[in-house]
Amino acid sequence: MASGRPQRLICACGRSEQRLIAGMEPVLVHRKSEAQIKKMREAGAVVGDTLRMLRGMAAEGVTLRELDKAAEAFIRARGGKPTFKGYHGFPASLCLSLNHEVVHGIPNSRKLKQGDLLSIDCGCTLDEWVGDAAITLLIEPVAAEVRQLVEATYRSLDAGIAAAKVGARLGDIGAAVEAVANLHGYGVVREYCGHGVGKALHEDPQVPNYGTAGSGPRIQSGWCLALEPMINLGGEAVHTLGDGWTVVTNDGKVSAHVEHSIAITDAGVQILTLCSDGSRP
Ligand code: MG
Ligand code: MG
Repeated sequence: MASGRPQRLICACGRSEQRLIAGMEPVLVHRKSEAQIKKMREAGAVVGDTLRMLRGMAAEGVTLRELDKAAEAFIRARGGKPTFKGYHGFPASLCLSLNHEVVHGIPNSRKLKQGDLLSIDCGCTLDEWVGDAAITLLIEPVAAEVRQLVEATYRSLDAGIAAAKVGARLGDIGAAVEAVANLHGYGVVREYCGHGVGKALHEDPQVPNYGTAGSGPRIQSGWCLALEPMINLGGEAVHTLGDGWTVVTNDGKVSAHVEHSIAITDAGVQILTLCSDGSRP
């Protein structure tokens, strides 16, 4: 789940941007110990395995509600809780965002069909620690431009992860993500962003998917961040539907969203939301 809806989630993007522009340390970045990072990896593995299961299940004719129910059962069977369910009143375990929906889509009775792009965002709380990750999958066959958008969105996440190092600046992450999107002329969503993650789903700092390399606070050992590029085939502008949750593109063109929770330490960066076997969901 993405951070940054000022009235519903944690602090407003605007305030956060001002802090970043001013180069100030954000307040309250909880640095995690090795033992805490291990707990987060355990929660993250449930998320990774859930997403892997859903990737296998998602096919033409399957409803979004069926995916949500399967995810909740899977997470609970592993001893976890679906973090999103009830979060600021969110009514489901997954955010399922189809085609021109960007993030925070509510699972309903719609059936997947050929040509669809589906973003699946999943959170699991296990032993008080949160894992948060998202995949975007395709119901084949899809248009070439849609496939290219999804591939580029995964590359932008990888670029963000590669830029996340102790001593680098927070702006380096956003700059790396944005550079990949800019190569293709895609719109980078600015109103929602990644975030710190730990015992809470959304912690400081906010992690925009755009920025200036060399700007912002220095990344410190023990920071755990959820990086989540939201990249639009068309323009960057988005708005929220009347359900109060679903964010859609203004121009109606498709949007992709992928996410990993990561831990940054002196030993390097670890992806916390891999599957149990160490592969990506
Ligand atoms: Mg998420
Ligand atoms: Mg998130």
